[in-house]
Amino acid sequence: MWQTNAVALRAGDEAMLVDSPYFPDELEALPGVLAGAGFEPDALLATHADFDHLLGRLAFPGLALGLGEPSVERLHREPGAAQRELRRHDEQWYVARPAPLALGQVQTLPVPGSIELGREGLELHPADGHTADGLAVMARWCGVLCAGDYLSGVEIPMISEGGSLRDYRATLARLAPLVEAAETMVPGHGTPHTRDGALRILDEDVDYLDALERGDERPTLPKDRDTREQRRIHESNLRRLG
Ligand SMILES: [Zn+2]
Repeated sequence: MWQTNAVALRAGDEAMLVDSPYFPDELEALPGVLAGAGFEPDALLATHADFDHLLGRLAFPGLALGLGEPSVERLHREPGAAQRELRRHDEQWYVARPAPLALGQVQTLPVPGSIELGREGLELHPADGHTADGLAVMARWCGVLCAGDYLSGVEIPMISEGGSLRDYRATLARLAPLVEAAETMVPGHGTPHTRDGALRILDEDVDYLDALERGDERPTLPKDRDTREQRRIHESNLRRLG
């Protein structure tokens, strides 16, 4: 669903899973697929508290879920919201799950800040604007940036509840030097990008935010993202800002 990505990072003999796939068969297959590639996650992390990023514990029920401080606050502000949204989408797509989502033990992570993975450091950068919470994970030693729901090649910038245009712009400005320093950028949705591909999307997204701020009802959308669904997201962005 929505080309949702999960990223496994490894340093030394420690591994971490960032975000999650959505479908039960993907979640069930994930531990075996990762183990076959030499990844056995010791920890889970979600870039933000939207339900489609929180499902790691359905694949690894024994692991604690790491969330940035703003995401933990959001979960406290809206108790049960992620579970309700998951149920709603499961109903829409006729998805049955062996067990409901229990977030279990949540570990609060500092944002901005860094955490250790093996002998390496993972940088956590604030990434709000899409929602009120959010972080981007920079694994500098291997050149990978996990941007959460930013810089997607399949989705235009989406200002969801709690998000804001100003914060979204600030996040893009914060992501720019990280993209410059990365070899691969993995968005929450859609295929991973090279540095140049990600920089191109960043430019397109700044242009889109300009059009959104002007209140354009029919803006030029990036070629690969000019679809009916993205037009619908644009209308919802306009409503939220209006
Ligand atoms: Zn998402």
